[in-house]
Amino acid sequence: MNKEISELRQDPVSGDWVIISTGRAKRPESFKSRHVAASETPINLCPFENPQEHGNTIIKTYGAGDHGWAVQAVKNKFPIVSGENCGFEKRIGPYAKNDAAGHHEVVIFKDHRKSLAQLKTADVGLITGVFKERYLELEKLPCVNYILIMLNHGREAGASISHPHAQIMALPFTPSDIRRSLEGSKKYQAERGRCVHCDILAWELKEKKRIVFENDYFAALVPYAPKFSYEVRIFPKKHSSYFEEVGGNELNNFAEALRVSLAKIYNGLNNPSYNFFIHTPPVERDHEYDYYHWHLEINPRLGVWGGFELGTGGDVIDVDPDEAAEFLRSIKI
Ligand SMILES: [Zn+2]
Ligand SMILES: [Zn+2]
Repeated sequence: MNKEISELRQDPVSGDWVIISTGRAKRPESFKSRHVAASETPINLCPFENPQEHGNTIIKTYGAGDHGWAVQAVKNKFPIVSGENCGFEKRIGPYAKNDAAGHHEVVIFKDHRKSLAQLKTADVGLITGVFKERYLELEKLPCVNYILIMLNHGREAGASISHPHAQIMALPFTPSDIRRSLEGSKKYQAERGRCVHCDILAWELKEKKRIVFENDYFAALVPYAPKFSYEVRIFPKKHSSYFEEVGGNELNNFAEALRVSLAKIYNGLNNPSYNFFIHTPPVERDHEYDYYHWHLEINPRLGVWGGFELGTGGDVIDVDPDEAAEFLRSIKI
């Protein structure tokens, strides 16, 4: 296969699409010893101190003021998906494949040493605003079916460069995790005529046992049945299907809920690695997903995944979710 362009392959049993991206094996970080923790990228070798100087194509700079810039959106130098050549699905025996078209951007935050947990709410608000702005730009492009907004923090979470940054991937397919989440929400809506996430929120906000933090528009909670110990999910309190429709005022509340949740995890669990990502419907076409309720999931990576975890898709939860929530609620930030 052409190693420069990633390939999409479909599992004929599950229907899941996977990306075969062998070209990324050449990225320089992958040659470093695994003993060099991502948290130790020295500032003088950091490619995100001056992204342009390090050959990154800048898409947009935000928050320019006394300090130059606060946030930069750049093209990923080693994209998992790239180009606009899509729609020519090929079949080989039982298999289907396609070019992995799409766009892979990096959203770099200014301060080398401050993760989102240490920023002010206004700074996190600028970042969540960039997420929305980039989403609205990327959804206009051809071949884009799903826009994944995510962040890796720490080596165990897959961060190859320690300098705080998020990633936005405009993908030509809907990832299997999202597909399952959409299907479950659609089924519940069809059976009971209500949004499953609204029902969960109403229950949790009344019980208050698993709520970690809430403000006017958002609630952060430990799920009743989490996939990771100390997992936190952040939901808009009012039914809201699409992340990109979140309003300005709500965006600040979202930033606060995200910052507070991450700071509690940082302080309470000694700065663990974590991933977070937004679950929102595929790029909107015709209100097809109004039954869905967008949210953000934070997955702390406290253990190494073995056979059980890989075979079942989640941690063995070794902390009672009620106690995990009580603990995170108690953590001062
Ligand atoms: Zn840096
Ligand atoms: Zn809802």
